[in-house]
Amino acid sequence: MFRVQREELVNELIKKGITDLAVIKAIGIVPREKFIEKTMHHIAYKDVALPIGYDQTISQPYTVAFMTQLLNIKKQGLKILEIGTGSGYQAAILYEMGCNVYSIERNLDLHHRTTKLFDKLGIRVHAKYGDGTIGWAEFAPYDGIIVTAGSPSIPLKLKEQLAVGGRMVIPVGDKVSQKLYLIKKISEDKFDVETIPEFTFVPLIGREGWKK
Ligand code: SAM
Repeated sequence: MFRVQREELVNELIKKGITDLAVIKAIGIVPREKFIEKTMHHIAYKDVALPIGYDQTISQPYTVAFMTQLLNIKKQGLKILEIGTGSGYQAAILYEMGCNVYSIERNLDLHHRTTKLFDKLGIRVHAKYGDGTIGWAEFAPYDGIIVTAGSPSIPLKLKEQLAVGGRMVIPVGDKVSQKLYLIKKISEDKFDVETIPEFTFVPLIGREGWKK
């Protein structure tokens, strides 16, 4: 089901500039329709964000591909922390790419719904309910951290929990629009920061995020 639509989406993402073959392969395999309601299955492969309830969205496929590409995943078994499990689609892409995925969601209902879905689809992601702005210290350091909600600043704990040599991708800005930050940890206290303008995400709410 949806094989043709998935291929069309992959071609669209390539035309839009996605080049990482592992990312392209994963988008071509993971069934996006499983992460949204049945009533929206006919638009599952449009390159748009879609509602998943609780005022949240499954990110636009281009955004998922672009952010994942920035993580520069070049081998299997890398430990990746995702903040904002949401529908589970981004985590499923990382899992498909061979990552060891840890994912945190602050909405309890979404957390329960998505962990059930992971079980049903055989996606082995370590999922936790909580405030992702303080990270998941128990399993740190992470080779990569991906934050899928817009933050007012870069949470300190996430910088701490990133491995030296690791990368963090995080949208930072106000509640209307954000710049995507790519942060490379050079040493324990040295970071290289690049910014990519104009992305829009739902807000990251938490101790080091927005206060609602
Ligand atoms: N990665 C998700 C996907 O593939 O569907 C994107 C989901 S949505 C764009 C962002 C998610 O971040 C929402 O589910 C929201 O509840 C969650 N979120 C916001 N602030 C958070 C926080 N402090 N900790 C964990 N999750 C948070």
